[in-house]
Amino acid sequence: MSPIPGSGLAKGLAVTLRTMTRRSVTARYPDVLPDLPPRTRGVIGLFEENCTVCMLCARECPDWCIYIDSHKETVPPAAPGGRERSRNVLDRFAIDFSLCMYCGICIEVCPFDALFWSPEFEYAETDIHELTHERDKLREWMWTVPAPPPLDPRAEEPKELAAARKAAEKLEAAEAAAAARADEPSGPAAEADGTGGGDRQGGEGPA
Ligand code: SF4
Ligand code: SF4
Repeated sequence: MSPIPGSGLAKGLAVTLRTMTRRSVTARYPDVLPDLPPRTRGVIGLFEENCTVCMLCARECPDWCIYIDSHKETVPPAAPGGRERSRNVLDRFAIDFSLCMYCGICIEVCPFDALFWSPEFEYAETDIHELTHERDKLREWMWTVPAPPPLDPRAEEPKELAAARKAAEKLEAAEAAAAARADEPSGPAAEADGTGGGDRQGGEGPA
């Protein structure tokens, strides 16, 4: 069946009228910056102090765009008679964002929480080589990483927090016990001058 003449035009005009009454979704960037969700994959920040140079991120990166160089250093024994240990020292950590596909695998696999997503996205360059961000630049991105969202109040306490809380409680109890022991006078002198044990109460008071 042939369409009614002019029906296509009417449909088109109806669409035009409908969209004219809707609110515009055009973003006025760069005058107005977008309000991005905290989990936006903008750029990767490196928290260098946590990196143990385990190379897991570089090995798992599907694009092979993480470059890590390191050397080994010998650490003297902690106690006399102990054994020397060796540790990796980071010399270079770089990510080539011209190759990165923002999959997030490196961040997921890092066992030491050294890599984080930042929502920053304004790092376009006219020279492709500038898109390889070295460790100093990756560290600078860390300042733009948003704080993690608060835990669900009914969620199970994370193991790390539970262990830290228990250790802090133990330390507090040990300190309180030590302080109580220090306040308690002991020995024959304390007993003789009436400041020991229950007599202590009677020995105190206004002069
Ligand atoms: S986000 Fe993916 S592609 Fe980019 S550096 Fe990490 S693992 Fe490689
Ligand atoms: S996986 Fe984490 S700790 Fe290991 S080299 Fe990469 S950033 Fe460093």
